[in-house]
Amino acid sequence: MTNRSTPTPTLSKGKDSTTPIDIDIPDNYVSWTLKNQKALPPFRWNNILNELNWLNVSILTIPPLLTVYGILYVPLQIRTFLFSIFYYFVTGLGITAGYHRLWAHRAYNASKPLQYVLAMAGAGAVEGSIKWWSRGHRAHHRYTDTDLDPYNAHQGFWFSHVGWMLIKPRRKPGVADISDLSKNEVVRWQHRWYLTLLLIFGFGVPTVIPGLLWGDWKGGYFFAGAARLVFVHHSTFCVNSLAHWLGDTPFDDKHTPRDHMITAFVTVGEGYHNFHHQFPMDYRNAIKWYQYDPTKWFIWTMEKLGLAYQLKSFPDNEVRKGQLTMQLKRLRETQEGLRWAPDSNELPVVSWDSYQEQSAKRPLVLISGFIHDVSKFMDEHPGGRHLIAKMIGKDATTAFFGGVYDHSNAAHNLLSMMRVGILNGGHPHGFDDKAIPPAQRLRIAQYNELGYGSSAMSDGGEGLMG
Ligand SMILES: [Zn+2]
Ligand SMILES: [Zn+2]
Repeated sequence: MTNRSTPTPTLSKGKDSTTPIDIDIPDNYVSWTLKNQKALPPFRWNNILNELNWLNVSILTIPPLLTVYGILYVPLQIRTFLFSIFYYFVTGLGITAGYHRLWAHRAYNASKPLQYVLAMAGAGAVEGSIKWWSRGHRAHHRYTDTDLDPYNAHQGFWFSHVGWMLIKPRRKPGVADISDLSKNEVVRWQHRWYLTLLLIFGFGVPTVIPGLLWGDWKGGYFFAGAARLVFVHHSTFCVNSLAHWLGDTPFDDKHTPRDHMITAFVTVGEGYHNFHHQFPMDYRNAIKWYQYDPTKWFIWTMEKLGLAYQLKSFPDNEVRKGQLTMQLKRLRETQEGLRWAPDSNELPVVSWDSYQEQSAKRPLVLISGFIHDVSKFMDEHPGGRHLIAKMIGKDATTAFFGGVYDHSNAAHNLLSMMRVGILNGGHPHGFDDKAIPPAQRLRIAQYNELGYGSSAMSDGGEGLMG
């Protein structure tokens, strides 16, 4: 029996792993799940022993302790130091070019040999299997900034950096399909042999290479193994913390992802995260040639070598629309921060006789159908007080627009701020450039302020597409 008022989301759990898990996802999945799915009570410090995920705690604390030991007691050889940096990039690219852009986002296709190399390099970063990692990352993109996002940035910097791994998750990440990965032979192979691969590429290879080639087994273990692993870990974690915290939002500001060069430097090029969340299937994070994105350069090079193909990039036209929207939004804020002249609807309509009568009491000048009170300005008029004084009670339109002096745009803008009324029937120039101050001719308006209606629909006419 089903309860009609609270539809239960049914996900195709029982089916085999090649069926998309979200194929039957209900329309109200997100709101329903957030409201009805049981979550663990909030984290409590006095219950910390039960709150921690001890496996993750060990993975994230033992390598730093080994690093400290290495720094204190193991001499660092220059060759081992350089190899550690090299191996940092190898395993880092395993995550960024492999786990992230290839498998989680399908931003390009890779040949089998490249896939195996990336799967092994990624295992050396000790961040879980491709399958586990991509499942969480897809949920992160799908439910960004909600409690269904496993590393929800709204829970704070440290939560999104490491907290989400150290403490037991409060609830399951939102559903995200990985049936494509379940079909992939390399992903399956890596998942099956993950522990072995982790030991070989996380610690074996970085110990054996310096050991066999220049006899530095200990240095290899402590620096290329442990210390390098700490750097790779926190480099990747910065994509979830720093990239949702530091920088600008040049493409969209609906969610927390941000672009910053510093984040790019510490994450092997994943720092243009505002772009990435808008265009996740793009193989690039940085779109400008001078921005730091070695992951993009690596994928591009692999394409040139024939090892990667079908690199996806979003149409430039659509990317620029996002940028323009954000630029207009900022300009609109500037526009709203300024004071503007009243338009004809906001001003009292005054007859010619009344204009004459009132200008005998205070200095009023008619220009382009608008009556202006120039009392505060007369002494500041660059052309002298006398030129204004002789126009009081008269129509100075021609004199203002070139008859005596062709005033600047700034003068016209300033004049409009002195409007106090509109002459009845005296708007001879309509909506031409004499009535609208230059600063108001090009303005930023919301679509609903422009009077866009759904005219096609209200006309009852049927439109043809295409
Ligand atoms: Zn993100
Ligand atoms: Zn991503």
